[in-house]
Amino acid sequence: MSKVLIIGAGGVGSVVAHKCAMNPHVFSDIMLASRTKSKCDKIAKDIQEMHGKTIQTAQVDADYASEVVSLIKSFQPKIVINVALPYQDLPIMDACLETKVHYLDTANYEPRDVAKFEYKWQWAYHDRYKEAGIMAVLGCGFDPGVTGIFTKYASIHHFDEIHYLDIVDCNAGNHGKEFATNFNPEINIREITAKGRYWENGKWIETEPLEIHKPIEYPEIGPKESYLLYHEELESLVKNFPTLKRARFWMTFSEKYITHLRVLENVGMTSIKPINFKGMEIVPLEFLKAVLPQPDTLGENYTGKTSIGCQIRGIKNGKIKTYFIYNNCDHAECYREVKAQAVSYTTGVPAMIGAMMVLTGKWSGAGVFNVEEFDPDPFMEQLPLQGLPWHELHDIELPHEYPSV
Ligand code: NDP
Repeated sequence: MSKVLIIGAGGVGSVVAHKCAMNPHVFSDIMLASRTKSKCDKIAKDIQEMHGKTIQTAQVDADYASEVVSLIKSFQPKIVINVALPYQDLPIMDACLETKVHYLDTANYEPRDVAKFEYKWQWAYHDRYKEAGIMAVLGCGFDPGVTGIFTKYASIHHFDEIHYLDIVDCNAGNHGKEFATNFNPEINIREITAKGRYWENGKWIETEPLEIHKPIEYPEIGPKESYLLYHEELESLVKNFPTLKRARFWMTFSEKYITHLRVLENVGMTSIKPINFKGMEIVPLEFLKAVLPQPDTLGENYTGKTSIGCQIRGIKNGKIKTYFIYNNCDHAECYREVKAQAVSYTTGVPAMIGAMMVLTGKWSGAGVFNVEEFDPDPFMEQLPLQGLPWHELHDIELPHEYPSV
């Protein structure tokens, strides 16, 4: 029985709060804190009505470690789940260090003024967390998160060595809006408009944004045009699985989405360079975020499914083996369960399970860790119980170009 502090009351934070409330044997007391307290109160009201559980709420500006420290000292949680934005990762990690409380997040730190995500800033906390005897679990959403756990699970149970990894992420849902992003618009657009990058034969290969694309077949969905992006889990996976000869990340986007994005880019609306507007300094992308639909408002009429998984080729008993492990998640079912769309759901459920692993001692250690450094089995056991069933396909023909040997 443990207290949990959740920071961030957006699409993902709402799912984490609902799912913690649905697991009262692990999370005895829950506090949801965010920059705008009214959003926390609305989620708390839904949780009370839907699951009969009372949760506490608070206002916090997590850009300031001192505010988070005060909140931790008054509530005394065992773990902080950070589902605010990547900009808040370091102040929240500082606050956890000062108060000796475990930390978990779903996205790595990004400086506001450069669209660049790297683990180096957070990995630099390892020795201090180790000395303090606490644990930071990095990237425990779906991707990053479950994709790293799937890879670890495959490497233990199905391969002697893994050589090729393709993480394939499809959203075949329809929210009925002309243009909207499924998670925080600012972070999402920074990720997609950045250069692509993948790992091959010991080095990173850079591409122009969305330069490489092809149709990929998704289970129960069919073929969808998928674009090669750089995604943060590639950095930790190539470090933790040195046998990988190639690691890539693919995500689907509809033609309509790409067309809107190109227009917005061409007119300068996705820029993160501040401009002067009527005597005020504004960042075009931050302004765009303010006029786009928020991810937590998309759920109500969302139909269709997401499909995210890992396609792996490697060696088992001296022979080449292929393997595909994935989850499909239905937007409307998520909405019925926790009033969220599937992208928030597939992120929030693993964040809750990760916290459960820490609080129940299934994952232990002191320092800063990526999820693939832990035992995947207890996590994999929880996934279907908590709403994310997974499926495996063995020795299938994977639609990716591989060298013949
Ligand atoms: P939202 O924009 O819906 O929510 C973000 C929340 O954080 C908002 O409630 C916002 O408050 C709050 N927030 C922002 N700044 C601060 C601050 N300084 N102090 C306190 N709270 C703050 O985003 P999502 O819920 O869609 O995404 C949340 C996180 O999840 C992001 O980091 C995203 O990158 C990550 N993510 C990870 C995925 C994965 O699979 N690993 C997939 C999808 C998302 P306010 O309401 O006041 O703006």
